[in-house]
Amino acid sequence: EASLKRIKNSKYLNNFITISKELAYEQAQASEKLIKAGETRSPLEGLPVAVKDNFCTKNIRTSCASKMLENFIPTYNATVVQKLVDHGAVIVGKTNMDEFAMGSGAVDSAFGPTKNVWKTPSGHLKVNTFQGNQTKAVDAEEDWFIAGGSSGGSAAAVASGACVAALGSDTGGSTRIPAAYCGIVGLKPTYGLLSRHGLIPLVNSMDVPGILTRNVDDTTLIFNLLAGWDPKDSTTVQEDFEPIDLESDFNLRNITIGIPQEYHSPGIDAQVLNSWSSVTTLLEKLGATIVPVSLPHTKYSIACYSILNHCEVASNMARYDGIEYGLRSAEQQSTEEMFAKSRSQGLNQVVRGRVISGNYFLLSRNYENHFLQALRLRRLIANDFLNVWANGVDLLLTPVTLGEAPRFSEFTLKDNREQCATQDYCTQPANLAGCPAISIPTQLSKNGMPLGLQLLAPNFDDAI
Ligand code: GLN
Repeated sequence: EASLKRIKNSKYLNNFITISKELAYEQAQASEKLIKAGETRSPLEGLPVAVKDNFCTKNIRTSCASKMLENFIPTYNATVVQKLVDHGAVIVGKTNMDEFAMGSGAVDSAFGPTKNVWKTPSGHLKVNTFQGNQTKAVDAEEDWFIAGGSSGGSAAAVASGACVAALGSDTGGSTRIPAAYCGIVGLKPTYGLLSRHGLIPLVNSMDVPGILTRNVDDTTLIFNLLAGWDPKDSTTVQEDFEPIDLESDFNLRNITIGIPQEYHSPGIDAQVLNSWSSVTTLLEKLGATIVPVSLPHTKYSIACYSILNHCEVASNMARYDGIEYGLRSAEQQSTEEMFAKSRSQGLNQVVRGRVISGNYFLLSRNYENHFLQALRLRRLIANDFLNVWANGVDLLLTPVTLGEAPRFSEFTLKDNREQCATQDYCTQPANLAGCPAISIPTQLSKNGMPLGLQLLAPNFDDAI
């Protein structure tokens, strides 16, 4: 009840798309009985958790923040959602995001943008949904900081105290960026440790479920409940998963932390640089060995990511044809017209733009020069990380974003492509390499907004 009340009181954040009140009560009552009987299933028993709206949830609408899936109610739970439920979590609702997780600001949602809970005045969003480019429809005088995206609704839900944890997804930074902007912890686990079954795909070769919580202990708890082989996702690893134990002896004296020079990217805010160097100094004082390192192909990651992203998007979005499920346009005189009208009415400009460019890159005359080149680059970017680990580096410390959360008015001066190119500079390489990365809040900016830093580790070394 406290959680639902908090969601209601912070409605101005526009962080939830669907609130699953009845199911939440059912789950909470079941938990209550188990708690009374002393039979709790996990430390999560009875605790409120939110789920990004691109994870299928049985009997709860799953819209991907798109008009295309506005009325889609799945018949099954994504594996990670089912695991949460089986461990006693109460799913309070589905959170707002960029449409089909394409974005870095949680501003391109068919349900309107999500606001950052830090320094955002309460009041109602003046947003006309489903009106083409919704970002223009907000009253310019009512300015506020964005929550970051695409899992902005999940980050705002945790930061506003509506739930103890939320699921996000991370394809190029979508869990870590909103975590940094909202002052919470965001984990992108190693690709293949958490099941993607039931996570509506953006880029199958990079998507991972992300975990957003207020601290690292909670992240660890949830990670341990969710990780492991899933027969329904052939990309999950089959080896037995060893749960992370934060209590185990951890001595910074045995740790070498690399500072990659390429992450001093153009346009980075001086406050982020200060935070980066003061945390580096602190870690060194605590005994860690700090070494400068180089990941020379970092500068190609945005271009490489974009091409691979658009190609996989072009393939993944083909299913939304108005036939099996999703929106079907009423104006149709032929099958072709039905496809075209359903897709142009159901998908926003960002999604349609990526479908077009992805199909362009995949044309037989472009395939070699674009798609295959991008795959080769991806290998070079992944090898950069392997070289660093092979030279005795245990962790990398980098910024997450180039600055604090931008204001909505400033952010939307750029289009989605440019927004992602600046926001995701420090986050996309981890997705290309598949390695684990965590965003941890460090300090407040002069404006009183949170700043965070990112730690990256070798694949399957999430524990470190
Ligand atoms: N900003 C990137 C994109 O739009 C990453 C999004 C994500 O991680 N889901 O593709």
